[in-house]
Amino acid sequence: MSDAALTADEATRIGAKAALFSPPDAVLADGRRDLVGLTREEIAAAIEGLGEDAKAARMRAKQIWHWIYHQGVTDFARMSTIARPMQARLAERFVIGRADVAADQQSADGTRKWLFRFRDGQEAETVYIPDPGEPRGSVCISSQVGCTLSCRFCHTGTQKLVRNLGAAEIVGQFMAARDAYGEWPSPKGEARLLSNIVLMGMGEPLYNYDNVAKAMTIAMDNEGLSLSRRRITLSTSGVVPMMDRCGTELGVNLAVSLHAVTDELRNEIVPLNRKYPLAELMAACRRYPGASNARRITFEYVMLKGVNDSVAEARELVRLISGMPAKVNLIPFNPWPGSSYETSTQASIRAFAAIVMDAGYAAPVRNPRGRDILAACGQLKTASERARKATRPAA
Ligand code: SAH
Ligand code: SF4
Repeated sequence: MSDAALTADEATRIGAKAALFSPPDAVLADGRRDLVGLTREEIAAAIEGLGEDAKAARMRAKQIWHWIYHQGVTDFARMSTIARPMQARLAERFVIGRADVAADQQSADGTRKWLFRFRDGQEAETVYIPDPGEPRGSVCISSQVGCTLSCRFCHTGTQKLVRNLGAAEIVGQFMAARDAYGEWPSPKGEARLLSNIVLMGMGEPLYNYDNVAKAMTIAMDNEGLSLSRRRITLSTSGVVPMMDRCGTELGVNLAVSLHAVTDELRNEIVPLNRKYPLAELMAACRRYPGASNARRITFEYVMLKGVNDSVAEARELVRLISGMPAKVNLIPFNPWPGSSYETSTQASIRAFAAIVMDAGYAAPVRNPRGRDILAACGQLKTASERARKATRPAA
């Protein structure tokens, strides 16, 4: 961990322009507690009161873990290795929660998007993006409801209410996506429909580090969802002090939302740059633990017409990343109602990509997927709110 490391609490505070409120309690109105999102030790401690000593509770927690995260079971009555009276006692005191599905849309290109509604009524989006023709695909997960960071081109940053998602809500998005494709029990090898997690949905994951770290630790557990850390990518707009912790403690792949190559422009479109300017951000990327040619850092670059898409900027981008194991994802700007930018032309995207590729870096243009279902981050939630407001009877 670097000297500059912040605690997650401090990181959350410095990001809090809007009032941040907490995830709902893991205890339901009827007093039952959700077991999703707890560590094995926490499950053991929670069930110790049910007539078993500490050692037996630890064994029991291991069984329950297997049913929740390997088998995907949500009903204690299906836990066939647990005797019926114990199943009943567990069901009286606990639940294995899943968020409600507020919307479920499938795009013509196979992209699927859910809007999940949590216990307190707040909502966040999850998107599944299959790899065409391969037994592979990424689940794009949200880490917060809304985002405090207000990047100028991002729709999520315009939403007023912001709260962190809890660990159960974060890992639960992946589990609910698995439910939708029936991909239980957790497949053994790498060939899976839902093979990767990208933390690129709503919110800034490094402003909710503790919950994200707990959720990803659960996802990586070999006796459960068993996703390798190589199959998880965390995208940050550049919370420099937390990048070190993320690399050391989680070791997941890193994606950095660069979007501009000068402090002047980045201060404007990614306001967090005023706190952590480019020089600090690039230094943190250079020292990111575990980065290698096999595990390159992804730089995301949204292509905004006439704003950041010139040939000179492409050259400066190459200079910034020189010597780093890196690739550049060029993302055509996905417009949303009221946004003040336009997508770069095909010709300027091609010219930009050519310069980056000539310098020896992969520069795929991330095709806009699922346009017909509002797959740009934050858009489905707003559409759902608008629809609900429209259908709500006048007070
Ligand atoms: N907060 C994190 C992760 C979520 S955003 C981050 O900023 O990295 C995931 C990616 O989508 C980021 O690179 C973000 O800049 C990009 N993005 C946001 N709005 C977009 C839009 N309208 N069009 C294209 N990309 C967008
Ligand atoms: Fe937040 Fe990322 Fe959107 Fe910026 S791009 S407002 S950090 S979600």
